[in-house]
Amino acid sequence: MKRVVILLGAPGSGKGTQAKRLSEAFQRPHVSTGDLFRENIREKTALGQRVKAVLDKGELVPDDLVLDMLFERVAQPDCARGYLLDGFPRTLPQAEALEVRLGADVKPVVLHLVVSNETIVERAAGRLSCAKCGAVQHKKFSPPRVAGVCDACGGELKQRPDDQPEVVRQRLRVYSDQTAPLVSFYQSKGQLIDVDGDRPPGEVFRDLEQAIRNAFPKGKG
Ligand code: AMP
Repeated sequence: MKRVVILLGAPGSGKGTQAKRLSEAFQRPHVSTGDLFRENIREKTALGQRVKAVLDKGELVPDDLVLDMLFERVAQPDCARGYLLDGFPRTLPQAEALEVRLGADVKPVVLHLVVSNETIVERAAGRLSCAKCGAVQHKKFSPPRVAGVCDACGGELKQRPDDQPEVVRQRLRVYSDQTAPLVSFYQSKGQLIDVDGDRPPGEVFRDLEQAIRNAFPKGKG
């Protein structure tokens, strides 16, 4: 049975960290549109060159580019039984396009990570990202064994250009203007589950995992 989970939350709400762990527990691939764009930028593809300035400014990539990239990814065989979406949808047209694509039989479960603005700014300010493999660490919460060096691959850890304070503020504005309306969109369809994200990652993870288990009871695929 196709199971689709959407992680919805502001930048810095912990979506990426939680999505990686949940994808293992839930045995479905983690599909992050932000990671896909950064991969394209690292590899200097035509798409990467087109979207780099948009990401650096903390703005949203136009819906048609996001949808083409996302639908190509979820058409891969590993997504046939479902997937975990992180950072998508981010606008109402994206959510509607996903609904059409999935058809009436597949209703995504939307886990909404609710966090305070102070948490978001603190998390983004200390976040480090590997220039080589894209792994994410944090100066305070998951410091690298050797300063500036990725634990996973030995690459160079840097702050993401869009984690600079003024860009984080812009991303938060974009979130409240364009993405927050998705909360009521999914709430009105009975698909939204709020999870308090202002807690240690292990506690948040347990609640998210439980919510997925409740939404997709065992034995039904
Ligand atoms: P993220 O890693 O999810 O914070 O995404 C980083 C950046 O990639 C965002 O600030 C946007 O510029 C772009 N991006 C990622 N996902 C989307 C999306 N669904 N729609 C539009 N832009 C996106």
